[in-house]
Amino acid sequence: MSLLEVTSLDAGYGDFQALFDIHLTVETGELLALVGANGAGKSTLLRTIAGAIAPMSGHVRYAGADITGQPDFMRARTGIVLVPEGRRLFPTLTVEENLLVGGSTRRDGPWNLSAVFDLLPIVADLRNRACSHLSGGEQQAVAIGRALMSNPDLLLLDEVSLGLAPIIVGQLYAVLPNIRERGMTVILVEQDLSRTLAVADRVACMLEGRLVLAGRPAELTREQVTDAYFGHGYGYLDTDSGAAR
Ligand code: ATP
Repeated sequence: MSLLEVTSLDAGYGDFQALFDIHLTVETGELLALVGANGAGKSTLLRTIAGAIAPMSGHVRYAGADITGQPDFMRARTGIVLVPEGRRLFPTLTVEENLLVGGSTRRDGPWNLSAVFDLLPIVADLRNRACSHLSGGEQQAVAIGRALMSNPDLLLLDEVSLGLAPIIVGQLYAVLPNIRERGMTVILVEQDLSRTLAVADRVACMLEGRLVLAGRPAELTREQVTDAYFGHGYGYLDTDSGAAR
């Protein structure tokens, strides 16, 4: 059984439809990278998986249960946590207080204040600072730490590298193996294709609200990925299942 199963999913904002007939499965322990141009629907898909927006139709199943109608705070308790684009920390709270908010789901697991401080020493150094005084990279590190504090089984990372200096991005990516070695499943939205192909077990590419390509990086040519990214070429190709539409 897949940890996450998205079927026939349509979603959007009011009357505006941003996702069309998405089918996607993610296995336990997998790192799936979701790529695609601006506006392709990556954030909308993560928000729908996290329960921040309700789908127009279709289903989201998690660990075998249909969670389509479940609100986001319930999903956090069952182990799905989103680090949204733009961080969204509580600006007047300190770093440590923000982390403790993440821990309020009280799920069991390896992540607590000291584990987060060990993983992200930069966060430990800032623990008593108000988040409004942090740089973008520091905020991003705290946002990841806060998500880990809730001990998710499925971590959704939306463009963690957006607007950050390359050296900071490198540091954030460097902690991914440590996060994964404790069994976490990750869906990562990323614009940087090279970085994505280097870390992902599987890549799914979105174009104009549709999933147009999925497969393991080793099985995809650079040309297939860039064609899917920019919209030159075929309908849908999944190198795992052999499905083509
Ligand atoms: P980006 O990298 O720019 O965030 P994305 O692939 O994550 O792109 P989405 O943010 O999911 O794409 O956007 C998909 C579509 O939904 C776009 O047409 C976008 O304008 C629209 N959209 C996104 N957020 C909202 C919102 N809050 N209200 C209305 N429309 C939205």
